[in-house]
Amino acid sequence: MDQHERDQRAARAEVFVADLEAKGVAAVAMTYVDTSGITRVKAVPPARLPHAAAWGIGMSPVFDAFLVDDSIVTGRFAGGPVGDLRLHPDLDRLVALSAPAGWAWTPADRFDQEGEPHPLDSRALARREAERLAERGMAVLAAFEIEWAVSVGGGDEFTPGCQGPAYAMSRITEQSAYLRDLLGALRDHGVTVVQIHPEYAAGQYEVSMAPEEPVAAADTAILVRETVRAVSHAHGLRASFSPKVLAGGVGNGGHIHLSLWRGDRNLMSGGDGPYGMGTEGEAFSAGILARLPALLAVGAPAVASYLRLIPSHWAGAYACWGLENREAALRFVRGAAGERERAANLEVKSFDPAANPYLAMAALLAAGRVGIADGAALPAPVEADPVGLDAIPRLPTSLEEAVAAFEAEPALKEALGEAVIDTVAAVRRGEIALFAGLDEEEIAARSRWKY
Ligand code: GLU
Ligand code: MG
Repeated sequence: MDQHERDQRAARAEVFVADLEAKGVAAVAMTYVDTSGITRVKAVPPARLPHAAAWGIGMSPVFDAFLVDDSIVTGRFAGGPVGDLRLHPDLDRLVALSAPAGWAWTPADRFDQEGEPHPLDSRALARREAERLAERGMAVLAAFEIEWAVSVGGGDEFTPGCQGPAYAMSRITEQSAYLRDLLGALRDHGVTVVQIHPEYAAGQYEVSMAPEEPVAAADTAILVRETVRAVSHAHGLRASFSPKVLAGGVGNGGHIHLSLWRGDRNLMSGGDGPYGMGTEGEAFSAGILARLPALLAVGAPAVASYLRLIPSHWAGAYACWGLENREAALRFVRGAAGERERAANLEVKSFDPAANPYLAMAALLAAGRVGIADGAALPAPVEADPVGLDAIPRLPTSLEEAVAAFEAEPALKEALGEAVIDTVAAVRRGEIALFAGLDEEEIAARSRWKY
């Protein structure tokens, strides 16, 4: 980042200051997501935004090596007390929030003090992978599904915030004011909601958004989560985004929908591949399928993730794909006849909300890109419940297994770089040690309010 760019950034930020102040914004929260999946923040008053845009806000690189309980591991590339990074707000996503009111939000990009992107900046990695697809004339549209469960009051125990059954209208009626305020806040924040519904588990809801380019979709995932948290709080509720809220229950998924485009043509449709996929759409999907065990180290990154990733919970525990198969790791969504050209997409079901959405996106795009480069083909689809089908393997059943696959995967090493591979592995192993010997109840309890 040279002086000219710094000047431009400052000038651009100047434009927003008066408006933010007129709206009563106390400070702009600048967020990024760490390796363990926690959204970290520093905030500046509006008047300070131009300086932050030009020069960044200091933040230690040590957070790359933070664990979910805020203890720190030491990796080869992260974990010491020395050094500083600069958080630069991305003003394209700046939004004055109505929940929490009096605040604004913007995602941050992390640079070093010389103005170079930080190698562990996951947002930059996701952007680079989108660019690498663009070099091949392709683009991905993506959307994260957000699932969460609400508990009454602020306590650590989980007491479902609504009583109605799964998918029941009675849950909407019970919490109509809460859900209405949530939808209002999301609209104020510029988020395009396409659906909201009560989910299966106690107190659980889901909201889905319109597809966007990959980095924007990951930004939206963070904005939606924090909006849900704020509106929940205002209604005397506490929102859990943990992969496993209660040891015995159905977890929170963080499914990611992906479609691959060449210009205005959706390569997931209108081709000669299975269920009408285009050749490149199939190869992209095959690249992801083949690397799912490794991808889980970023998509299902918590010890609690493996309490969720079990058969018969619609979590995608099996290493297979299928048309509208909700037990397959990859569910191909063909869409309704007449709408397929626009609607067809691949849903990655195994991922959960503990994932850093930028890192998950970077890894998925890389795996898909390598699938395209290899001209990969999908195996036969699985058209039945994979439970009990001997030929269909489970995905890793523990974080240990996923990390080992992650370290051994050349495509991810090439795409993410050694510093990321090493730091992700160190953080995952740190969390494995942190939770060692604890029973499922205890793991769920200690993860419940972290994400
Ligand atoms: N809550 C389920 C999960 O853990 C997903 C339910 C659904 O298919 O939407 O992923
Ligand atoms: Mg769902």
